[in-house]
Amino acid sequence: MILVSACLLGQCCRYDGKSKPDPKVLELNSKELLLPVCPEQMGGLPTPRTPVERRGERAVDREGKDRTEQFKKGAEEACRLAKLYGCRTAILKSRSPSCGCGQIYDGSFSHTLTEGDGFAAEALKMAGIHVLTEEELDACLA
Ligand code: SF4
Repeated sequence: MILVSACLLGQCCRYDGKSKPDPKVLELNSKELLLPVCPEQMGGLPTPRTPVERRGERAVDREGKDRTEQFKKGAEEACRLAKLYGCRTAILKSRSPSCGCGQIYDGSFSHTLTEGDGFAAEALKMAGIHVLTEEELDACLA
């Protein structure tokens, strides 16, 4: 079973109440068992919600509220479910402060990218799970 960011499968769990369905992930769903998770919702945040970016070890929303606790809880829940379902791979939404892998927004809310992982991607990697984004799926499946 592969853990997947729920928004990539069409779940309306994003901060703006929308989804981000990805054709390659939807296609993969017909071949593999996918486990959809949304770490931000599992951490207790509402949908829609004020957008958050990662600032070092903190998660801060656009109004300056600290959301680190919710982001850490969501990351822990994603890891717990990955372990429970025996997921060895996770396909996560690129650039998200939870799910982003390798590149995320820099915390300035100016659309500036920086190197780094979202909270859930980082925790899943530390748990030994192979994490990639939907943008890397072609290379992985080739
Ligand atoms: Fe999608 Fe992950 Fe953001 Fe949830 S936390 S909306 S699954 S990118």
